[in-house]
Amino acid sequence: MSYLGAKNVFDQTVAELILDDESEKKSIAFLLLEDAFSISKMDIAINKPVLINELLLQEYIERLNLNEPLQQIVGFTYFRGRKFKVDKNVLIPRPETEEIIDLVKGLNIEEPSIIDIGTGSGCIAISLQLELSNAKVKAIDISKEALSIARQNAKELKAQVEFSAIDFLKDFPAANQIDLIISNPPYIKDMEKVDMKANVLEHEPHLALFVPNDDALVFYRRIAEYGQKALKTGGYILAEINSHLGKETAQLFEQYEYQSVEIIKDFYGRDRFVKAIWG
Ligand code: GLN
Repeated sequence: MSYLGAKNVFDQTVAELILDDESEKKSIAFLLLEDAFSISKMDIAINKPVLINELLLQEYIERLNLNEPLQQIVGFTYFRGRKFKVDKNVLIPRPETEEIIDLVKGLNIEEPSIIDIGTGSGCIAISLQLELSNAKVKAIDISKEALSIARQNAKELKAQVEFSAIDFLKDFPAANQIDLIISNPPYIKDMEKVDMKANVLEHEPHLALFVPNDDALVFYRRIAEYGQKALKTGGYILAEINSHLGKETAQLFEQYEYQSVEIIKDFYGRDRFVKAIWG
């Protein structure tokens, strides 16, 4: 441990990072120093002397250079302003996914009963339970490791969510007359791997990301079938989708006799969510 000027530490970090573009290096360096060493942008601006574990910083820079996501290195990320623990067993919550919470709020359902399919870190289920009044939220995942992270997040954030381990492609969780099924299931086709960044491909759980090329909508088909049994009349499905498969996903819900099926764009302008009403 030694005292060093925060600006010097920042410049050194940027210089040692091996990433594609300069602006990304700076933003990653800011986040690393802030999240792992509590060094703020203001500290850097005034080159404040900060006590720093240089060996640890060195280790983190090396791991970033081996494409490990910053969120896995520091062990958390923010979703809707709350801190969620993450590790290699859960998909790192994405900023565009945050919008699904506002979409649910826009439905104005009183005391909604909700089930989240493939909860991962629990970010959607936990945010809904905390942001909607009197929401009853259940969440499932096939991965026991993911559920362990989700339970820790719920405990830390004081959210009441009932979690269970279920392989949704084989079994449907017991539910009756519920208001909403929500999901961000795996939806990336195997063949889309070539376009993906190494930090995602090499470090995030494939179980949470990929589906077979010839059956990319497998989870949505199961969700559509499940909704027919589990939802009350007028209940909703709201799911994140593969932006290249908006039309196909919407058509699938229409084939299963859902009404008012809508494709909703994210802030990048990409088709990102599908909403459907049962009955
Ligand atoms: N949107 C995520 C990504 O781009 C994938 C999420 C998912 O497969 N459900 O990596």
